[in-house]
Amino acid sequence: MSSSPSRFGRGHTDDLMSFLSASPSPYHAVASVAERLEKAGFRQVEETDAWDGTSGGKYVLRGGAVVAWYVPDGAAAHTPFRIVGAHTDSPNLRVKPLPDTGAHGWRQVAVEIYGGPLLNSWLDRDLGLAGRLSLRDGSTRLVNVDRPLLRVPQLAIHMDRSIYEKGLQLDKQKHMQPVWGLGDTREGDLIRFLEEDLGLAAGEVTGWDLMTHSIEPPAYLGRDRELLAGPRMDNLLSVHAGTAALVAAAGSDSLPYIPVLAAFDHEENGSQSDTGADGPLLGSVLERSVYARGGTHEDRARAFAGTVCLSSDTGHAVHPNYAERHDPTHLPRAGGGPILKVNVNNRYATDGSGRAVFAAACERAGVPFQSFVSNNSMPCGTTIGPITAARHGIKTVDIGVAILSMHSARELCGAADPYLLANALVAFLEG
Ligand code: ZN
Repeated sequence: MSSSPSRFGRGHTDDLMSFLSASPSPYHAVASVAERLEKAGFRQVEETDAWDGTSGGKYVLRGGAVVAWYVPDGAAAHTPFRIVGAHTDSPNLRVKPLPDTGAHGWRQVAVEIYGGPLLNSWLDRDLGLAGRLSLRDGSTRLVNVDRPLLRVPQLAIHMDRSIYEKGLQLDKQKHMQPVWGLGDTREGDLIRFLEEDLGLAAGEVTGWDLMTHSIEPPAYLGRDRELLAGPRMDNLLSVHAGTAALVAAAGSDSLPYIPVLAAFDHEENGSQSDTGADGPLLGSVLERSVYARGGTHEDRARAFAGTVCLSSDTGHAVHPNYAERHDPTHLPRAGGGPILKVNVNNRYATDGSGRAVFAAACERAGVPFQSFVSNNSMPCGTTIGPITAARHGIKTVDIGVAILSMHSARELCGAADPYLLANALVAFLEG
């Protein structure tokens, strides 16, 4: 068993800020992961190619998902995996199939609500537009207009003073359509604008997956800058920490496991897609890795039986203005280290033996950890953890980082927690 002295510090959180800024969509997030993996000597393998059983770092990209793994020299076909699981998607406003709309002299972009955003947090923010364009020739291009382009303007207080008594009421269809200019609506306007942005000929874009993002960069916040404010920390914080941990683990000698990062798309709407945690992607990659090393079905079963997944996602730090919403004896603090998430009704996959695995990793890393359980009177959220456990029969533990304002366009966490998480993940991957 190797020991893992803490490796990551404030520089990790600085790097997280760059990662968040460079990753306004799941497609950009996996490109940001791939860039870091390539720098560390990992190489991309295509799912359509035959795979070989060579050692070293490899990764598969599929849409907004990535699975990366490192095969140590001399790994047996039945060597178990140690997986960090996370998701690349975040709630936001996404462009509809017929985007060009408007009224009363305003040009607008028609959007659909993705996942469960705090809608109020999207009002009166300068928004950019990013995502993936599919071209006539079958290729895809990433696009990121990272300047003030759109805005969902809030109604003036003078027009509805009832919000003081009733609270803000937002209709997802009527009230969330951003403006992006003046003049008459012109069909094809938005896509033509993006074609011009990328220097493409008119009509070259035949499909799109586009979403809005706040263009305000992440920032350290507070008297002593011990907080971090930024977009998409749920759950790019875990994707980034998992990537850093995999790269660090790949540099260790004598790994008893095959370390893996699995970052899925579509967690925010239930994970049921070819790139979601409820799809076959992870199982397919792990199996092919076993078979590429000459393994049999028996080796696959042995490897899976010894595998553990840490499903890392954000959780709820205790909110000073709403502390009663938490269980009174489980009050995770920002800056207090990663959280272990427990729900006996399997909204989280953690059990006592999983706790022991995570506790051992944190101890080796010298990282404190905290426990989260929902107040019995509150519904509990869920993660990719129970899905991964059930779909692949892999022992899974739900962990993460406690934040405030989950699903806001701009979330808040302790600036130390991202690197405390990364240190715990390295110790876990190294076994
Ligand atoms: Zn999440």
